[in-house]
Amino acid sequence: MAFAPVLPLLCWLLALCFAPQWLQQFPLPIPASLYWAMGFVALLAGILRQWSWLYWLAWLAGIYLTIQSGLQRPLSEPGVLALYQALPVWITLSAIALNVFSLPPLLTWRGALLATVIAFSPCLLLFQVLATPFSLINPATWFPAGLAYRHALWVVIVAVAVIWIAVLRYHDSGARDWSRFSAWFACLAFLTVIELPPASAWAMLVSIVSLLMALLLQLLHLAYIDELTGLPQRRALLSQLAHLGKRSAVTMLDVDHFKRFNDTHGHDVGDQVLRLLGRILQSGRGFKAYRYGGEEFTLVFRHAQRDKIQQTLDEVRQQVADYPLRVREAKRDDKSRSSKQQARKRRGQAQAGGKTLRITISLGCAIRQPGEHTEQLLKRADEALYQAKKAGRNRVSMAK
Ligand code: GH3
Ligand code: MG
Ligand code: MG
Repeated sequence: MAFAPVLPLLCWLLALCFAPQWLQQFPLPIPASLYWAMGFVALLAGILRQWSWLYWLAWLAGIYLTIQSGLQRPLSEPGVLALYQALPVWITLSAIALNVFSLPPLLTWRGALLATVIAFSPCLLLFQVLATPFSLINPATWFPAGLAYRHALWVVIVAVAVIWIAVLRYHDSGARDWSRFSAWFACLAFLTVIELPPASAWAMLVSIVSLLMALLLQLLHLAYIDELTGLPQRRALLSQLAHLGKRSAVTMLDVDHFKRFNDTHGHDVGDQVLRLLGRILQSGRGFKAYRYGGEEFTLVFRHAQRDKIQQTLDEVRQQVADYPLRVREAKRDDKSRSSKQQARKRRGQAQAGGKTLRITISLGCAIRQPGEHTEQLLKRADEALYQAKKAGRNRVSMAK
């Protein structure tokens, strides 16, 4: 699923490698489709309040502007050839930089300034002095003259893919399809600029399709993934339960005395606990975890082996109970201090390590009975959870 945005791209690359002549028979009008795609993305970015997408639009617009300005000059003019050799390198490096560094919110003066710099910096390549150093590191100029373009293309693809994987490993942002896509887009743009014009029209089409698919994935992500814990949320659970097999089990999990915990340590620290719980449950084996709502989670097992389930649940319970929570308790509403003083105070607390706290959870599990509806199954798991609470908390209760 996470790789869906790159699928059309891979199809395009395969087609380009095996049938380049066929692709070149269908040139497409680039500018109109590009404007439409960018306008569409800007609209969606506004609707979904994903302002960071606009950085990428500024990036694309800058590249397009530079290519357009370069096209108006004859190729024989000094600097124009250097521009075309430098641009792919600039595109790749800037896309990777945009992925790696965290960007300020766009709707601030720093964000607006950065977007402007992103949009206009490729234009600087039009000046020969700037373009020449970049063009020297363009791999396209390194290949021996006899090497077939297709082979050279694969060398570039492998090189960019390696950078891409390295960036994602370093970035480790979970389901950031947009980052994945943009890194791949850099790869595509790299190839596009060193490819012949008709094929680049196809590349543009493929990139627009990739863009739309990335947006679709982002939409699914927004609809199904819980922001705080990173786990799928109730809507995802309900669609999963609709396809639950005959041999399966459902567990309801609830944090013990969480209201008291929030009242004592603050809502921020409570959120840290939920985030940690999300991480523990995500790494758990043998089940899929969902955030049911509040401090309640649901675990779905795709088998009905009672002993194995009980053992897994007990391990999760023990893991949570043994986990030393090192939390930072900063009073963020302390208005009498300047923000610098507050930041210093927070840093001091983080260095001191903050407090170490512990929490416990209770779990109630129900194994699906023949012909049982999922609502009934959830209800039995909920009753089992109630039994676990009644029996003293920090325990697992299996429904009869
Ligand atoms: P019990 O052991 O019986 O489960 O006691 P409890 O206090 O955990 O039970 P209750 O369901 O009454 O309290 C749930 C609390 O969870 C209430 C609310 O303050 C807290 N909570 C729900 N969602 C969130 C959240 O997203 N963040 C934080 N920090 N707290 C939350
Ligand atoms: Mg509760
Ligand atoms: Mg609770």
